[in-house]
Amino acid sequence: GKVWHLSNTREKLAEHLKETGGKVITRFPPEPNGYLHIGHAKAMFVDFGYAENVGGECILRFDDTNPEAEKQEYIDHINDIVHWMGYKPSKVTHSAYYFKELHEFAVELIESGHAYVDHQTAGEIKHYREERRPSPWRDRPSAESLKLFDDMKHGLIDEGKATLRMRMDHKNENFNMFDLIAYRIKFVEHPISKAEWCIYPSYDYTHCLVDALENITHSLCTLEFESRRASYYWLLHVLDTYKPLVWEYARLNITHNVLSKRKLNKLVTQGFVHGWDDPRLLTLAGLRRRGVRPEAIKNLCREVGITRADTEIPLHKLDHHIRADLDSTSERVLAVLRPLKLVLTNLPEEYSQTVEAKVFPGNPESATYPVPLSRVVYIEETDFQETDPDLQPKGPGKKEKFFGMAPGKECVLKYAGLVKCHGCKKDRDRILEVHGDFKPLVAGQKLPKGVLSWVGQAVPGREPPRFEARLYDKLFKTSSVAETGDDWLEDLNPQSLTTVEGALATPRLAAAKAGDKFQLERLGFFCVDPDSTSDKLVINRTCTLKADFIK
Ligand code: ATP
Ligand code: MG
Ligand code: MG
Repeated sequence: GKVWHLSNTREKLAEHLKETGGKVITRFPPEPNGYLHIGHAKAMFVDFGYAENVGGECILRFDDTNPEAEKQEYIDHINDIVHWMGYKPSKVTHSAYYFKELHEFAVELIESGHAYVDHQTAGEIKHYREERRPSPWRDRPSAESLKLFDDMKHGLIDEGKATLRMRMDHKNENFNMFDLIAYRIKFVEHPISKAEWCIYPSYDYTHCLVDALENITHSLCTLEFESRRASYYWLLHVLDTYKPLVWEYARLNITHNVLSKRKLNKLVTQGFVHGWDDPRLLTLAGLRRRGVRPEAIKNLCREVGITRADTEIPLHKLDHHIRADLDSTSERVLAVLRPLKLVLTNLPEEYSQTVEAKVFPGNPESATYPVPLSRVVYIEETDFQETDPDLQPKGPGKKEKFFGMAPGKECVLKYAGLVKCHGCKKDRDRILEVHGDFKPLVAGQKLPKGVLSWVGQAVPGREPPRFEARLYDKLFKTSSVAETGDDWLEDLNPQSLTTVEGALATPRLAAAKAGDKFQLERLGFFCVDPDSTSDKLVINRTCTLKADFIK
């Protein structure tokens, strides 16, 4: 068979372009047996990105030849998420659209002596392959195979009792040239072709033929397919069809997580996570729900590049791109995760004012939003210490580390004024509330280093709106998740999700809708979760801030 190497890419490309009217055509071929993950984002970056760069087009092709594993839910999801990623397929196809052509090719193969009906079991095939022994049915007459293949098609042979095998080169060093299976019997309905067929073509048989039928100029795939290049071209060669150019690139892997759909499926169906879009997964649906934008995912792909070297990308690189993207786009808002009451004792009980906080504090032109200021406000629990740790032990050269409140200390209540703390109320060891005197800011005044985020009461005496915050950590404790058996499940991080109830929102945050993204000042980047109802706001932490003030 012909194998094209990178050295003659240019000539071959010129030849292909004649056939496609000068247009580069690629395809992104997911199997609809699960949700897409960040590895697929790399594949899309390559398939759609390459076509886009050269003014070509990319087809979204559902590679749906395993009816048991494939579902309409997955097809719908893939259509949706490809669109979310910002890619526009020139058309959407299914391998199933070509089942008739594929069957005609199979008949042609049998007629020309390039395929035969086999009766070996899967076990026998494996065993014979290892010993490089041909099947006893390999040399049966074409007429016999034709008849049997027709019986297979008409449901006259039981599942497992016959396959159609390509008659390749069983002596070849490459295992993938050893008479691969082209068709198997499955009495299962298919999401697209429904009950029309009871024989289904294999991946190896289908992929190259549909590439040829769709005039794909560049068939880009991951490196595990490199050894299948020989069989890809063998089949196109014996059928004398148009031959796309195949090129392989490395799969993307990310530390502390898993990407294989088999593993993802297990995590989802056995309840280790809450669905395919659980924000701890690196599925695209999970990332979207977590608050990640497609731009960040594409930026990661761009940085990783299209290499042939195996890539296991450290998780912090993904976080870096998520943070960098959100930092420039997310509006800021005040909120408190673990509230502690701060009573501004010099203000009257009924005090009720608003101050203007900035949507983009760094920008002097920034829009503002109102934040209620009342006698009782709420600060982060970790922003108060009964004894200022910076005061003891005192020593030369000791740097100030605690910028929160402590008795005798003055802090800025962001956008509002200054608070000087003068004590607290306790129940045994538990701090119930902190007391301080409030002073409005005066222009030009020298400010203390500690700047607190806070939430006030819109109606004096009434608690501000609550929300639930979901804080995420690595899904797996180990960076390279175990490969063998079910060992990988042992690596799951039991602390991957922390739910914080009773966080408090400013009115602007309380009015947010599912999908809205914010930087909660000092707390990180957050995104409103679709679990939110009119009674209860739920917010996911997408990632922490670089300056990690509050854990
Ligand atoms: P999985 O093991 O997750 O099921 P797959 O390769 O079987 O992966 P497909 O839906 O068949 O998944 O993949 C569609 C396309 O995406 C293929 O071209 C495949 O090579 C590519 N792809 C899948 N996983 C990755 C990955 N981790 N990195 C880069 N490309 C990937
Ligand atoms: Mg696949
Ligand atoms: Mg797969």
